[in-house]
Amino acid sequence: MTLSESPLDPTRAIFDQVLDSGLGWTHVLSPGQILRIVDLEGNQAVDTLFYNAEDETERYSAVDTVREQGNLYLSAGTRLLSTEGRVLCTIVADTCGRHDTLGGACAAESNQVRYAVEKRFMHSCRDTFLLTIATQTRHLSKRDLAANVNFFMNVPVTPEGKLTFEDGLSAPGRYVELRAEMPVRVLISNCPQLNNPCNGYDPTPIRLLIWNEV
Ligand SMILES: [Zn+2]
Repeated sequence: MTLSESPLDPTRAIFDQVLDSGLGWTHVLSPGQILRIVDLEGNQAVDTLFYNAEDETERYSAVDTVREQGNLYLSAGTRLLSTEGRVLCTIVADTCGRHDTLGGACAAESNQVRYAVEKRFMHSCRDTFLLTIATQTRHLSKRDLAANVNFFMNVPVTPEGKLTFEDGLSAPGRYVELRAEMPVRVLISNCPQLNNPCNGYDPTPIRLLIWNEV
């Protein structure tokens, strides 16, 4: 696991906002802009999707990303590939060291299957994604919500190939930075999940910063 710090100065960021857990956020990055996601209190899960902002039918592809980099986990140097095999973003700094793209986003259905029938109506990332695209985008619909990235989430794969959801590796102040390699729409659900050890059963805020090309 390689950790990589960023030289960027938060006082020079052109965007700086705290996003509470349970909230969605979407923003279009220009090529060369850098987005930093800060895990302010540690072990938060930040469910994230990416789209070509000029043609949102082209979107993040977990399977192409995993195959092309030959690794299941995302970290510094990972290129996030699209369904057309093009690079949407590159992870240019990472002080957490591992991010998941296998576990998917929590949903009403998974709340029910994983935890208990009565958990169905608790908040979920899929609901946050749906609300955010319905209110803040023009062309995206629920069929565009494909497999996502879970920044800071620890979903190790066992030698037998099973997925396990574990206590997170992240800690307060750890961050990941992405450089947009094309005009990219970023869609985030700051996970509200109260039933998963990945976030210590305690969803917490994140900080989002953007810099222009450096
Ligand atoms: Zn979630």
